[in-house]
Amino acid sequence: MKILEKSIIELHKELTSKKISATELTHASLDAIDKHDHKLKAFITVCKTDALRVAKKVDEKIATGEKIGLLAGIPFSAKDVIMTEGIKTTAGSKMLENYVAPYNATVIARLKKAGAILIGKTNCDAYGHGSSTENSDFFVTKNPWDTSRVAGGSSGGAAAAVAMGMGVFALGEDTGGSIRQPAALCGVTGLKVSYGRVSRYGSIAYASSFDTIGPITKSASDVATVLRCIAGKDAHDHTTMPDIVPNYLQDLKKPFPKLKIGLPKEYFTSDLDPAIKEKIMEAVKEFEKMGCEVKKVSLPHTKYAIPTYYLLAPAETSANLARLDSIRYGHRAKNAKTIDDIFKKSRSEGFGKETKRRILIGTYALSAGYFDEYYKKAQKIRTLIREDFNKVFADVDVLFTPTSPFTAFPIGEKATDPLAMYLADIYTIAFSLAGLPTISVPCGFIKNLPVGMQITGRYMDETTVLHVAHQYESVTTKQAKKPNL
Ligand code: GLN
Repeated sequence: MKILEKSIIELHKELTSKKISATELTHASLDAIDKHDHKLKAFITVCKTDALRVAKKVDEKIATGEKIGLLAGIPFSAKDVIMTEGIKTTAGSKMLENYVAPYNATVIARLKKAGAILIGKTNCDAYGHGSSTENSDFFVTKNPWDTSRVAGGSSGGAAAAVAMGMGVFALGEDTGGSIRQPAALCGVTGLKVSYGRVSRYGSIAYASSFDTIGPITKSASDVATVLRCIAGKDAHDHTTMPDIVPNYLQDLKKPFPKLKIGLPKEYFTSDLDPAIKEKIMEAVKEFEKMGCEVKKVSLPHTKYAIPTYYLLAPAETSANLARLDSIRYGHRAKNAKTIDDIFKKSRSEGFGKETKRRILIGTYALSAGYFDEYYKKAQKIRTLIREDFNKVFADVDVLFTPTSPFTAFPIGEKATDPLAMYLADIYTIAFSLAGLPTISVPCGFIKNLPVGMQITGRYMDETTVLHVAHQYESVTTKQAKKPNL
């Protein structure tokens, strides 16, 4: 097994037993970037010098016999919407092309404190607006399984990086599917946490009532290790919940309970690709064999999820992006003279087409006269969607659904058709509207392209979600195959 294919726990053992050093592990990740990233374009910034400096410090600790935590010496990348002090943080947008973050996001501060090694910042659709990284203002990230196809989005760079061993794990950001969908398309594991489980402080906001930061990894146990470090109350983010952070990794060792699994009929209609359905049903059978009860359930308001999200998320993003006026930071148009001119020209040049579309839709939905008809109505439907889940979770413990309606699609196929692109989120968005914890795990291949299954649990119950994902990994070899670039 190659070094970068090992789990965080295995690597930790090798580090503490001095079989490998943090410097070697960091070099291995940086070498993988050198070898593969000119083909994949997953990274916007690579932090070689900083990474090797931190690695050296970890090695010094190990040499003196100091006890190190599980994440010390483990290389990782962060989606470029996550603020990293002293390092360029672009949000995939030309507007912030040269923006150097003045402070660390809480997730970065916590990982750094744990000794994890930031090796670089990954490409994404600008501000998270998209499902393929084709809306990045810089370049498109390619899929490691087939470089003529997208890696998914918006955290496509993060998922491609993990799939190719460019870092052991990645941090992504998920507003409506941006961790789960690229994880599915690249054949890796990605968790969207419950809203409020992980601090959003220092994450460049897309839609504040949806945004979550979470890990993309090669296994549920790696997710558990990273989550334990980044989760929990943060004084800088008042939407974080005070709940005690469980020892997720420890909990994976408990006997697997005979859970009740729900299959929502709205996710298994005749529109679902039969080949994807087959993969999900194979996974379901594994759980039946373990004695789990499988039940059909219904989430009747699912059909409103896409229109509701594509009204509320643009509304929130139009407000969040209003602060990018190029006065204090960000792109400034060269020939702008008056203050109005500065706003207009700088924003026209700094924002891409999709971001502008969303600002327009959002501003319209929030404008006087339309607020009640659009924004308020969408909020009411969001409540109905949440209530659907409350009812279903009174009866079942987890829901199994596909993550994406298709495997990785060819670059350019949907780029000029925003509505077709929005439909990429059809299976992920309702869970985001409800703020639920949900993970995408690899569940097989169609024509050598990975397929993902989504496992969703009750609000704040990441423990069960991870336990199910871990249990699935232990009975299948679907995660074993690696891309061969
Ligand atoms: N694809 C969705 C969108 O474009 C979700 C993006 C995200 O989760 N950041 O809004």
